[in-house]
Amino acid sequence: MQQILLQLIETEKICAEIDVLDTKLAAFPGEHAFVANELRTAEAEVAKARDHLENEELQERRLESKMRDQEALILKFNHQSGQVSSNQAYTALQHELEAAEASKAEFETNALEHMEAIDAAKTALAIKEENLAGLVATAPGKGSMIDERQKVAEGERAGAVARRDKACEGVEAKTMKRFDAVRARKQPAIAVLSTTSCPECRMVLPRLRFSEINRLEEILDCSSCRRLLAPQKVLGASA
Ligand SMILES: [Zn+2]
Repeated sequence: MQQILLQLIETEKICAEIDVLDTKLAAFPGEHAFVANELRTAEAEVAKARDHLENEELQERRLESKMRDQEALILKFNHQSGQVSSNQAYTALQHELEAAEASKAEFETNALEHMEAIDAAKTALAIKEENLAGLVATAPGKGSMIDERQKVAEGERAGAVARRDKACEGVEAKTMKRFDAVRARKQPAIAVLSTTSCPECRMVLPRLRFSEINRLEEILDCSSCRRLLAPQKVLGASA
């Protein structure tokens, strides 16, 4: 029984290693998703920056066209002012001329603002494009680094599984089933006594139970937490 308990203690140590590796392995899809998401976000940012630039350019072109319309009007009014016969008509024409010049000046100011916005949008787009290019260039490397680490973890897991199988070699299936059932609910599944209390749930063991455990005739559990209990002396035997 001593040997079996030692085997189970060792098995449980390796089971814990496997659990850690499983947690590690479960995180790899998330790492790949993170890299893919980073790319998608950068692509969306480039598209947004490009839309913004195109919108500014469109606005600026519209203002330029409106400016040209006003220039044509100004030319027309100037031409007409040489032909008017009455003062009243001349004054009216001057009003229209001033209005056209004011409009032209306003469109010009707005167009200049849009030109500045275009410059800023071009700079912003270039930064976003550079960021995207960097990510596109490094994504495959990041992906294969994740794959590489995953492969290492898978190898470690396979090694740990082999060590675990070896550690519990020869232990009866019935005992393994019991061990697995306890471990599914409580970890550690095996507790080594250093006092007369269960080291995990702190329940004081009845004297009779304690001496039965020390007799090592069968594997007994804690009546409170159901963990399998090993007497302290099994560890001494392994040293
Ligand atoms: Zn207990």
